[in-house]
Amino acid sequence: AMRHLPYFCRGEVVKGFGRGSKELGIPTANFSEQVVESFPSDIPTGIYYGWACVGNGDVHKMVLSIGWNPFYKNIKKSVETHIIHTFKEDFYGEILSIVITGYIRPEKNFDSLDALISAIQEDIEEAKRQLDLPEHLKLKEDNFFHLPEGKIVNNH
Ligand code: ADP
Ligand code: MG
Repeated sequence: AMRHLPYFCRGEVVKGFGRGSKELGIPTANFSEQVVESFPSDIPTGIYYGWACVGNGDVHKMVLSIGWNPFYKNIKKSVETHIIHTFKEDFYGEILSIVITGYIRPEKNFDSLDALISAIQEDIEEAKRQLDLPEHLKLKEDNFFHLPEGKIVNNH
């Protein structure tokens, strides 16, 4: 999984499958199918971490899942970012910029909702710890996150 990292990506936030991530307290900003298709086809599914920024806002820690997309009968992937920050409002339609810096674990099935939620909480804690290490922290300051001022960035 590390071969493709760090991986930089920018794209519009679209509506997901309404699986109720937000109700679990872990909303995930979904990338469009077009952006997902631009990922290396051999990047493993699983849970990753890195840095994320909405529009030209602040850069925050994030956890990301690359999974099989139920909407396409699990033949296509989905990429969903949970930003470790509390936002005042939703940001559908905005441009999300991310850099994926590390891998946590493969996709798993859970016996209960509680087990799923605690696994995600552990992923978040692991991401927070890893991202404080110099090799990951340095990417927070990457020029990728500094969009040219006054320039409208669309569809990439
Ligand atoms: P959907 O199925 O449409 O993706 P979710 O329940 O996963 O719905 O919620 C995702 C949406 O929540 C994002 O598109 C974004 O607009 C909003 N949101 C608010 N806070 C966050 C956050 N911390 N991380 C990711 N998305 C967030
Ligand atoms: Mg989502």
